[in-house]
Amino acid sequence: MNQSILNLIYLVGSLSFMIGLKMLSKPESARKGNLVAAFGMTIAIFGTIFLYDGIKTSNYIWIFGALIIGTIIGTLMAKKVKMTGMPQMVSFFNGMGGACAAIISLVEYNHMGETTDIFNFSEGFGDTPVAVINGLKVKLGIIYLGLIIGSISFAGSMIAFGKLDEKIKDKTLPLQKVINIGMLLVILGIGAAASLGNIQWPNIIYVVLTLSLLYGVLFVMPIGGADMPVVISLLNSFTGVAAAMGGFLYDNKVMLFGGILVGSAGTLLTVVMCKAMNRSLLNVLIGNFGGGAATGEAKSMTGTIKEITKADAAVLMKYSKKVVIVPGYGLAVAQAQHICHELEEVLEAEGVEVKYAIHPVAGRMPGHMNVLLAESNVSYDKLLEMDDINPEFKTTDVVLIVGANDVVNPAAKNDPASPIYGMPILDVEDAAHTIVLKRSMKAGYAGIENELFYSPKNSMLFGDAKKTLTDLVSELKSL
Ligand code: NDP
Repeated sequence: MNQSILNLIYLVGSLSFMIGLKMLSKPESARKGNLVAAFGMTIAIFGTIFLYDGIKTSNYIWIFGALIIGTIIGTLMAKKVKMTGMPQMVSFFNGMGGACAAIISLVEYNHMGETTDIFNFSEGFGDTPVAVINGLKVKLGIIYLGLIIGSISFAGSMIAFGKLDEKIKDKTLPLQKVINIGMLLVILGIGAAASLGNIQWPNIIYVVLTLSLLYGVLFVMPIGGADMPVVISLLNSFTGVAAAMGGFLYDNKVMLFGGILVGSAGTLLTVVMCKAMNRSLLNVLIGNFGGGAATGEAKSMTGTIKEITKADAAVLMKYSKKVVIVPGYGLAVAQAQHICHELEEVLEAEGVEVKYAIHPVAGRMPGHMNVLLAESNVSYDKLLEMDDINPEFKTTDVVLIVGANDVVNPAAKNDPASPIYGMPILDVEDAAHTIVLKRSMKAGYAGIENELFYSPKNSMLFGDAKKTLTDLVSELKSL
């Protein structure tokens, strides 16, 4: 009876994940989608705790202890985090998922050791039927895969967390690609040999764990700034696959289903990101891709920059037919999304057509700008993806670039030595005027200078995004 109810709960849980994921694909329904999926996860967790036959009631104290501690820490972190800290938090949470998957593998490995003689290959299997032995080898293989993928995801996500938090800098070892490929082959080789029973030392799993953690670090360490988004979505897909391995081990359908959804969604996003960044997936996997594109020292800038006053910028925009706003990481830092929306409304009241140009890696995580602007109720049909807005720049009078830098840097097209070379960018230089709103001449995430600032059609509007946009709105209202 319990099992039938549990199966029903798992079915509802799986459906909720699917519906939730579908709803996440549109900004309008994304918040509700998150809640729907969270509902599915909640019933799956409590259904398993109370209805699964294998759980001893004496373990409830541990289970609920961990649940309460985890819930408190998660809630506090989520409440405390600033919008600019979201990407780090996502990376951290993703790493925790990977760690869970790796721990499940370790625990199940030890369980297997207690209940079967699979680790005594040297003494043979006695009269154990071949089918049983093959089943055990498959299980061992899944344990190793879960361990390898989970620990790479954990270690890689922690390094990504450190990088996004600007605590860790990119570091490339000599022969990094060779080392990475070699390590990956060694890890997979040992895992396969141990699963097939060709290595009989039970502690070999700890060697695989250590090497996988090290690989996770080495894999993410050299990745250049502009390529981080791809890595983040790849690590996310790793965690999904590792969780699916746990679903296999426990024959738990909802865990398997959830893992497959995360794994496939993450993989699709990785492919889309790779396309957006013009990078190959193979280069991502061996973890040295930004460096592969750059062939030397990036161009140093010469020329003069032109400043514009807020009053002049307001006049220029007021008498434009079409203004495109390019939001970037600085908009999130300044929390300027609400005032940006107000600027859009004021301009529209003056008869100006206003649109937003959303670059796929603007900000610090995939979808960062959409989330930010959705928060301030910008209408979704005004948010145009790069491919849709690029042809429109030719007919745009003013592009207002708010706290964005790398995503409008023409070096991605013109300078083969640049670390962002090959990344498609927003073609803002096609517009009649560009205004770059930022605090200084400092570089963006990729750490490189921006040719656009020196263009004769560009003007710099220095200042904090929120304060400057507030002043621009007042100027516009007073005109
Ligand atoms: P950038 O990091 O290139 O530039 C942001 C700019 O905002 C800076 O140059 C900074 O200049 C300015 N800024 C910061 N604070 C403020 C403020 N308070 N007011 C006004 N301006 C401010 O951001 P982009 O969005 O253009 O590009 C994203 C970069 O991040 C890309 O390199 C991308 O690859 C990378 N990345 C993206 C991820 C994703 O998934 N989207 C994940 C990880 C990395 P100043 O200091 O002078 O004000």
